[in-house]
Amino acid sequence: MSTPADIDRELLKSRLDEVEARIGAACERAGRERAEVTLIAVSKTHPIEAIEALAELGVSDFGESYVQEWQEKAGELEDSVRWHFIGGLQSNKARFVAGEVALIHSVDRKSLVKALARRTDEPVDVLLQVNISGEDSKGGVEPEALNDFYASVVARQELRVRGVMGMAPYAEDPEDARPYFRRLRELYEGLVAYAQHHAPQRAGELREISMGMSGDFEVAIEEGATLIRVGSALFGERNYDA
Ligand SMILES: *Cc1c(COP(=O)(O)O)cnc(C)c1O
Repeated sequence: MSTPADIDRELLKSRLDEVEARIGAACERAGRERAEVTLIAVSKTHPIEAIEALAELGVSDFGESYVQEWQEKAGELEDSVRWHFIGGLQSNKARFVAGEVALIHSVDRKSLVKALARRTDEPVDVLLQVNISGEDSKGGVEPEALNDFYASVVARQELRVRGVMGMAPYAEDPEDARPYFRRLRELYEGLVAYAQHHAPQRAGELREISMGMSGDFEVAIEEGATLIRVGSALFGERNYDA
């Protein structure tokens, strides 16, 4: 990230066109409007110049997973993009992110909620991450615990729960992700019903389902995703050594 990167704008544009075509086709299959789905370009490990190039091509939302990397990029880009924090968040770093990004996708435990709530000048918009894959490595609350966890979060005025986030297990065939995404949508619908009963004045804040990555975002759109998190299909492969 220290030396200005050589960005192939034509290549970025062709990848974005391709992703947009896939999003459009998936929306059409699902009978949904394109405007119902927000593309989040996941820029972790990729240089600022690539973010700027995609922003110039009309991408407004970017996702990062590591606090320090995000801080460096956000410092340079200032307010020109809308940031999503999508990675696992340590409670001791919560204060750097709360109030500074548009949405935190990875809230999954009370200690993190407490840390985020210390930043109280404005409500912090969050998604509750749900462990739909059953893999320990992925983070997220257990599906059975989602409604109770939600109740503990909305008990605080400092956080605004905008919806849920989840990840399907890695698979070659995107169809394999469908039952996981369907499950997350059902959990979301169950949560909305729960909220209408238990926190009716807060239920309207729920509106987002963040699911789908480069390999499976079309299936996610068909299953109701409102936010898709797409990295390598836009930026190319990640190089963690760069
Ligand atoms: C890196 C990452 C993505 C993007 O993954 P791609 O397969 O490159 O699209 C999406 N969501 C999360 C949580 C990630 O960490």
